[in-house]
Amino acid sequence: MADNRMLKFVTLPQAMPPKRQAETRVHDFDEIYEAFVQPAAEAQAGRCSQCGVPFCQVHCPLSNNIPDWLKLTAEGRLQEAYELSQATNNMPEVCGRICPQDRLCEGNCVIEKGFDSVTIGSVEKFLTDTAWDKGWVKPRLPKAELGQSVGIIGAGPGGLAAAEQLRAKGYEVHVYDRYDRVGGLLIYGIPNFKLEKDVVGRRTALLKAAGVVFHMDVDVGRTLSLSTLRERHDALVIATGVYKARDIALPGARLDGVVPALTFLTASNRTGLGDQVAEFASGALDAKDKHVVVVGGGDTAMDCVRTAMRQGAKSVKCLYRRDRENMPGSLREVKHAEEEGVEFVWLSAPQAFLGKRSITGVRAIHMRLGAPDSSGRQAPEPVEGSSFTVPCDLAIKALGFDPEDLPTLFDEPSLGVSKWGTVRVDHKTLMTNLEGVFAAGDIVRGASLVVWAIRDGRDAAESMHAYLRAKASAQLAGAAE
Ligand code: FAD
Ligand code: SF4
Ligand code: SF4
Repeated sequence: MADNRMLKFVTLPQAMPPKRQAETRVHDFDEIYEAFVQPAAEAQAGRCSQCGVPFCQVHCPLSNNIPDWLKLTAEGRLQEAYELSQATNNMPEVCGRICPQDRLCEGNCVIEKGFDSVTIGSVEKFLTDTAWDKGWVKPRLPKAELGQSVGIIGAGPGGLAAAEQLRAKGYEVHVYDRYDRVGGLLIYGIPNFKLEKDVVGRRTALLKAAGVVFHMDVDVGRTLSLSTLRERHDALVIATGVYKARDIALPGARLDGVVPALTFLTASNRTGLGDQVAEFASGALDAKDKHVVVVGGGDTAMDCVRTAMRQGAKSVKCLYRRDRENMPGSLREVKHAEEEGVEFVWLSAPQAFLGKRSITGVRAIHMRLGAPDSSGRQAPEPVEGSSFTVPCDLAIKALGFDPEDLPTLFDEPSLGVSKWGTVRVDHKTLMTNLEGVFAAGDIVRGASLVVWAIRDGRDAAESMHAYLRAKASAQLAGAAE
């Protein structure tokens, strides 16, 4: 029989940690949820019904042992709960903050139907933030050095997860990144109001304390070649993410004031971190006092609309060609954005950016959902004669990302890529067709999620470990002959 602290979902309603009022939070970039206090976290964890087949766990990309750490939390055994949660996740406090839980663990919680899911993400965040406060989070030092070195290209969540796992096993780990700060999109893509930067910074410090060596401002393919890295290390992981912004070939797309999403978000994040960003200071990438139009319906678009509101835009509209039910972004994020004053113009697509030198408006057209396409999704089609114009001083294109042409960038034409340009790997080992070169994260999957990048980083590390142990044994055997 389950402990009497559990199964509280029948009597205790779902409660998230307190969310700051929209009118207040829209004036700053601080995270929007306050921390759970311990009794509330324990009580909410106790709503879990301890399913025999936990669908939450099945739908967590890391297969986190959610029911067990919820039970330990409900019993007040927080350190044990934290130990269990971190055993399968290199950044539980990051996932607790920014996983789209409504599509993953919580969206598949069995009590969701009728009682509202257990607030799994918030409990995960609470546990790990508590662990940091109490000093339970320690660098994972190896028991012994193995005498082999690995190189990781890309310091985003995929590369960092691989780095931590490999260092803990005893490899000398070197991470190379073209940015000046560690974290990839966790630092320069995702805004502070979803993920405060010191949360990422303390992870970086932890990895450094474990002995991971970071080489920043190193653009592999431009300032350092892949072949040099292959000579320098026994094995490599490519975890470079996807950064080539998809464009829209519309009239006016080259006007001043029509900008790609990541350029806008990076300028905002850099400014928040205290950097001097010329294009922000000049106003070109600052939404203050402007009518802003964001085109797109994914997570990136949501981050742009909410950033623009915080910068003091006069109005922010989001044009998306499908409806609310069919948007790719998290519905939780849409709700936050609506509360903060963003206007969603569902079923609409831009036709032209208007203006002489700088943008002054966007001409758009209403859409309807037609017959399903080959993927089964209803294809949007324009409603004839329904064009309309909205005023606009800043248009942000958030249409997704593609990979760079890595075989050319790395001067390694034999590196296998898919028809989408993502790096091709053996799905069992995550090794590319280049001996000893593995790949993980968005560069393999295409634009995806932090939690999947962590999963890939862990899997690549495990597989590389098997590969390097075999290589070391073969060398020993060769030397003995
Ligand atoms: P990245 O995080 O992109 O890191 C790749 C790193 O490689 C970067 O630091 C880059 O500088 C470096 N690099 C690239 N090329 C080179 C090179 N040639 N040499 C050296 N270094 C190189 N996911 C979620 O789960 N929840 C969210 O809320 C969410 N919001 C998002 C918001 C935005 C605006 C964006 C753009 C993405 C969001 N995502 C979100 C997706 C998530 O950020 C990515 O899936 C994840 O960061 C991928 O991790 P990665 O390690 O593969 O790549
Ligand atoms: Fe849910 Fe993400 Fe945590 Fe898994 S890692 S339990 S999907 S919040
Ligand atoms: Fe608990 Fe929901 Fe997971 Fe079942 S699915 S174990 S109720 S969190």
